[in-house]
Amino acid sequence: MTQNSAAQHLLAVDIGATKAAIAVISDDLKIINQTSVPTGSSENIWENLEKSVKDLISHSGVDIFAVGIGSAGPINISTGEISPVNIPTWRDFPIVENFSNLIGTSKVKLCGDAVALTLAESKIGAGQKVDNFLGMVVSTGVGGGLFLNGKIHNGISGNAGYFGHHSISFEGQECTCGRIGCVELYASGPMMVDSAIKDGWKSDNANFESLSEAARTGDPIAIQSIENGAKALAVGIVNVLEILDINTVIVGGGVIKAGAIYWNLLEKHVQAEARFAKFLQKVDLRQSKLSSDAGLFGAALLAMDNH
Ligand SMILES: [Zn+2]
Repeated sequence: MTQNSAAQHLLAVDIGATKAAIAVISDDLKIINQTSVPTGSSENIWENLEKSVKDLISHSGVDIFAVGIGSAGPINISTGEISPVNIPTWRDFPIVENFSNLIGTSKVKLCGDAVALTLAESKIGAGQKVDNFLGMVVSTGVGGGLFLNGKIHNGISGNAGYFGHHSISFEGQECTCGRIGCVELYASGPMMVDSAIKDGWKSDNANFESLSEAARTGDPIAIQSIENGAKALAVGIVNVLEILDINTVIVGGGVIKAGAIYWNLLEKHVQAEARFAKFLQKVDLRQSKLSSDAGLFGAALLAMDNH
């Protein structure tokens, strides 16, 4: 059944550490319908995703001509498999093949979730007319994508800008990925919450939203934990900017929804870290314009390349 034969529709998939968002999007980038299923340590993730995709498409009443998938990493764009650090049951999981079978199309493309955000910001968001920038997702996990010389830089396997698992403390804690001192261990939303709890912060609903609310009301432990997370992210950001000699960063993901209580600390620490590299000048730190839909728009834009 085709509701509107003039428009063609895409299926966009954004697989993160907490949930996978899926959307039917028209080729002029309007979200027709969207839903999500839990990921992380949930059981039967693929079965739930498969059912939700079928329901979403049938409810939308359109034909899907291509699929774009942005996924938490690591991924492998040549095999179409993913092994997200925070989704332990998916190792070398054949996501491209599965979607190809489910939708009945060979037009299925895969990229990193932060790469999807980076692509979307470059085309329709905060990165328009910027030739070089680091795009980032800061949420349950921390990811990055690179836009260099006016193009997405994928790297060999599609993991370029694998930001969350570069180390900022070689004598730090061990990460789920196996490395010591990954930036994600300090800068992700849940890690800032854990660090506050260790320092004595108490809440009936211990998540990043309530932590940032506590910080807004002046709770010193909450403020310190958010500051430590923002500083860790700033150190990681400036590492990348120095190595690539670029000075624009676009940050998206759930954590920036905390607003000024987080953003002002991030801005302060980014500029403080960057001052040691004279060539960087002032870092141009921008918030994602596309908010929580950046990954879906990026996946849709990726799918359109197949057109
Ligand atoms: Zn790691």
